[in-house]
Amino acid sequence: MSVYDAVVIGAGGVGLATAWRLRESGISRVALVERFDLGHTHGSSHGSARVTRSTYHHPTYVRLMAEANAEAWPRLERESEQPLVHRTGGYLFGPGEGPFGAYIKAVEAGGVEVEHLDPLEVNRRCPALHPDLDDAAIFDPSSGVVFARRTLMTLRRRLEELGVDVLENTRVTDIASGTKAISITTETGTLETERLVVTAGPWASRLLPQLSERLSVRRQTVAFLGGAKRALWRMGTLTPWVWIGDGDDLVYYGTPAIDADGPKVGHHQVSGGSDDPNVLEVEPCEATVRRIVERMSRLFDARDLRVNKTETCIYTLTETEDFILDRLPEDPRIVVGAGFSGHGFKFVPLTGRILAELTLGETTTVAAFEADRGRFRIGA
Ligand SMILES: Cc1cc2nc3c(=O)[nH]c(=O)nc-3n(C[C@H](O)[C@H](O)[C@H](O)COP(=O)(O)OP(=O)(O)OC[C@H]3O[C@@H](n4cnc5c(N)ncnc54)[C@H](O)[C@@H]3O)c2cc1C
Repeated sequence: MSVYDAVVIGAGGVGLATAWRLRESGISRVALVERFDLGHTHGSSHGSARVTRSTYHHPTYVRLMAEANAEAWPRLERESEQPLVHRTGGYLFGPGEGPFGAYIKAVEAGGVEVEHLDPLEVNRRCPALHPDLDDAAIFDPSSGVVFARRTLMTLRRRLEELGVDVLENTRVTDIASGTKAISITTETGTLETERLVVTAGPWASRLLPQLSERLSVRRQTVAFLGGAKRALWRMGTLTPWVWIGDGDDLVYYGTPAIDADGPKVGHHQVSGGSDDPNVLEVEPCEATVRRIVERMSRLFDARDLRVNKTETCIYTLTETEDFILDRLPEDPRIVVGAGFSGHGFKFVPLTGRILAELTLGETTTVAAFEADRGRFRIGA
C-alpha cells in the first residue's frame, strides 16, 4: 500500500492543474491517478485548441475569468517555453432578444470592457464572419485561443519536475472514507491519503454516486472545415467566435485554423439523454456534422465547405451548466471538481487553484468564487 498526503483522481486538465497547485502549496507526497494514459482522447480535455472569452451569461464567471487571466494563466505560462493563450480578441453575436441579452448584462456587471458592434462592422473587421443582419454583436478583446494540448503537456512536465507520482493506466474502483485515512482501491493496488480530490470528468458519478442526480454526459462532435476561402480562416485573420441563438441547443462556436486541419467548429449540444462514457469506440454524429456545415455555409458565406476532420469529446453537464467545486458534506476531506459543462478549459489553472485551496482549508483566496459559493455546491 502507498501512502500520500493528497491524491487526485483523474488527469484531465482540471486534475493536472489541481495536482500542480497542491504540490506548489507545499504538500509533499501528491499522487495523480489516471485510468488511461496521459494524452488519451476518451474524456473532455484532448485536442489542440479551446476558446477563451470573458463574455458570460453570469457576472460570477466574468469575474472568475478576470482572475484566471490576471493570475492563473500567467503563472502557468511562466512554466511553459511557449505561450499557452493567444489573445486575438473574439466576437459574440446572436439575436439581441433572448439569451444574448443576459451576456450583455453580465459583462457590464462583471466590469469587462467590450465593444458593441453591428454585424456589418464585424464582417469589415473579420471578413470570414457574416453574422445575420439583425444580430447584435460584441467584441471581447480578452478572447483568444487556448492551446489545450500544450497546456496539458506543460502541466505534465511541471508535475514530473515537482516529483508528483503520476499513476497512468490505473483505474480507481473504490473510495472508502469511513476510516481514519481515506483508502483508494485501484485495479493494481491500494493508496491511502489524508486528502482526496475527485476530478474524474464524465466518470465522476461512477466514483461518487451522490453526484449522479446532478451530472449528465453528452458526447459532442466537432468538425474542422476546408474550402476555397481558407485564407480567411487562419489564425490572425479569423478570431474565436460564438453565436448565441435562442434555445437550448442553439449555440455554435469556432476557433481559427491553427494547422492544416482548418478552423474548428462545434455545435454546443446540451439537451437529450445521457451518453455512456465507457463506450470508447465512437463514430462522429453525422447529423451534427450536417448542421455545422449548414450553419457555417451561411456564417462563412461559403458554398463549397468540406469536412477535413471530425473529433468527438465529452461534456459533463449540470442542469444550469454551473461547475461543481465543493467539499463532500459527509466527508470534507474529499473535494470534488466536476460538471465543467463544455466551458471549463479556459478556467483550468484557476479551478486547479480553487480545488487545491479547498483541499487545504474551508475557504479559498478567490474572491469571485467565495462571493457566490452556493452556485458551486454539490447540493446546489
Ligand atoms: C467538444 C468540446 C469543446 C469544448 N470547447 C471548450 C472551449 O472552447 N472553451 C472551454 O473553456 N472549454 C471547452 N470545453 C470544455 C473543457 O474541455 C472541459 O470542461 C474540460 O476539459 C474538463 O476537464 P476535466 O479534467 O474535468 O475532464 P476530463 O478531461 O474528462 O478528465 C477526467 C479524467 O479522469 C479520468 N478518470 C475517470 N475516472 C477515473 C477512475 N475511476 N480512475 C482514474 N482516472 C479516472 C479520465 O480518464 C479523465 O482523464 C469543450 C469540451 C468539449 C467536449
